[in-house]
Amino acid sequence: MSIRFATPLDTQGDSDNASLQLSSSSGDSEDNDYPEEDNNFDDWVSDQALNRPCRSLFDEEKDFPSIDEALRYDQSTHGFSLAETCTRLNLDLHQRIRLINYIRKDKPTPSQLSSLTGKEPFFTSDEYLLPVIEDDPLLQLDLDDDWSDDESPPTANPQQPNEPTDLATAVRRIRHLEEKLSQAQKDLADYRNIVSQKVDVARFAEIVSEPGPSSSLTKDGVDDVRDDDSHYFQSYGEIDIHAVMINDKVRTSSYASFILRNPHLFENAIVLDVGCGTGILSLFAAKSGAKHVYAVDASDIAEKAEKIVQANELSDVITVIRGKVEEISLPDGNTHVDIIISEWMGYALLYESMLDSVLRARDRFLSPNGGILAPSQCRMMLVLCEGNETYKDRVGSWNDVYGFDLSEMAKEVYDNAIVDIVSPESVVSSPCIIKDLHLRTIAPRQLDFKSPFSLTCTSPKRTKIHAFVLYFDTFFVAGHRDDDDGVGEQQPLDPSVPVTIVKEGDPLLAEIWPVGGKSLPKRRASMGSSAWKAKENKKKGKLTSFSTGPLSHPTHWKQTVFLLREPIAAEEGTVVSGTFSCKKNEGNSRELDVEIHYSVRHFGASSPGETVVQIYTVR
Ligand code: SAH
Repeated sequence: MSIRFATPLDTQGDSDNASLQLSSSSGDSEDNDYPEEDNNFDDWVSDQALNRPCRSLFDEEKDFPSIDEALRYDQSTHGFSLAETCTRLNLDLHQRIRLINYIRKDKPTPSQLSSLTGKEPFFTSDEYLLPVIEDDPLLQLDLDDDWSDDESPPTANPQQPNEPTDLATAVRRIRHLEEKLSQAQKDLADYRNIVSQKVDVARFAEIVSEPGPSSSLTKDGVDDVRDDDSHYFQSYGEIDIHAVMINDKVRTSSYASFILRNPHLFENAIVLDVGCGTGILSLFAAKSGAKHVYAVDASDIAEKAEKIVQANELSDVITVIRGKVEEISLPDGNTHVDIIISEWMGYALLYESMLDSVLRARDRFLSPNGGILAPSQCRMMLVLCEGNETYKDRVGSWNDVYGFDLSEMAKEVYDNAIVDIVSPESVVSSPCIIKDLHLRTIAPRQLDFKSPFSLTCTSPKRTKIHAFVLYFDTFFVAGHRDDDDGVGEQQPLDPSVPVTIVKEGDPLLAEIWPVGGKSLPKRRASMGSSAWKAKENKKKGKLTSFSTGPLSHPTHWKQTVFLLREPIAAEEGTVVSGTFSCKKNEGNSRELDVEIHYSVRHFGASSPGETVVQIYTVR
């Protein structure tokens, strides 16, 4: 899937490219050069929270290196135990948050706190959900897990209540912890909603009551209330965008091909379709024998999906769930699924940041034993490109407009990546993999990355390189479900495994799909059933893949072109090398900031020339 969505209201203030701060270390650094960012509510229940600096609840000037030390100080100096109080009053997450904020805000004495009953008005007031100190680590603590084992499930060995003594006990304990984690995530999501609504209102009130420069929104403040979702999901409520995706034959038929050619995976499987849109992938999964499909989408299109499922009489197999996959829970008592299918890819692969949602779904719902992800692997590829068409179109055409110089109009063209179709002839190097994403194991923080590249010009004649071009290849490794040893075996593919290149006119689904609903061609019918089965079996486990590169039939993703301010004069053997950095835009996490550092070494030269840096936004 891929859409372009206009930048929503720029509440960020200065989003100038110049503010992009990327490490400029030498070209041999690897992935994940960016610091881990913990500004995500979903990371709240984490060990990291425990080790973050924390202020005493009673002494504002006392800061401690960890939560533990702060709480111990409060207990030894003020005789107040937060854990005990929460247990005594039997507080839920929201009440605990209110208690912490109440103490920080209204500054009650420890003895006043010891007489709390849990019925005080602040325990139900939303005002006390708002953090009193910014990013308060105490609000990010899962009190049950960190302070108390009271809720541990019963264990087989009463002497050592926390030591699982056999596999069944361990499994029960894991389940129990998973349930708690999922509940905590839900609670935090609710809390996030309440806080953002409240903060919004509070800010609005501030602007109204204090007009003038002092009331302007601060960058930091606005980050808290940023909404990267509403506009995004609104865009996916439109019919047209789904028509574009469905009509992208390379895309849709690759999914169909994988799903329908692997009934051994889908038969009797519980499937989750993350971002179902019209429900097309769910329909394929149902056709391939899935026991049940949960089709999730947070946009209005879910209503269409529901009707489509009904029209195809598959309501007993497909359940459409309207909501963000991060926030829903599965019905029918299911906690896990066997297969996750999702078409999450954006321009330049990572634009839209939907992969983050799929990874969250993977971590929440995919069965750890033999769970399958479709697709299972994507590679981001970089090539050198003459880019004459794009250059002429976006830059050259402004030089002479009815005899006038309008080149001013082209000044910003280098700041943004351009989504365009590049002709195969203008590609003048072999591709370099700049990011190989194995979806079974990749962590969200690895989606901000920095990679080295080296590209050698293959043009037989002297030429000008106007652009780096990025595209991606997508792979569906079949693996196998519920393997005897309990692993899915969707192993990462070696970089040498080639992707399928579709040429104009290639029949895409002829093998598996009756064209226009008509029955299969005669020769198929005449094939003996055992021969047909043997042929089908041979196809089992066959790798399905597609490329969005210039050599393959164009998809709706086209390619992503990074125009160079200074074209590179090159000939065969010229080496362009450097680093490619990509990270989420700070103002809108669905956009990308890209920074390319490169230098050019001409054929026969002993060393490369100076390093050039260009930065872009993919928006
Ligand atoms: N699967 C469909 C649609 C793909 S487009 C097809 O192949 O044609 C991606 C869809 O994912 C959109 O409809 C969008 O609304 C949905 N989506 C994106 N992020 C989501 C999230 N976090 N939770 C639920 N739906 C999401």
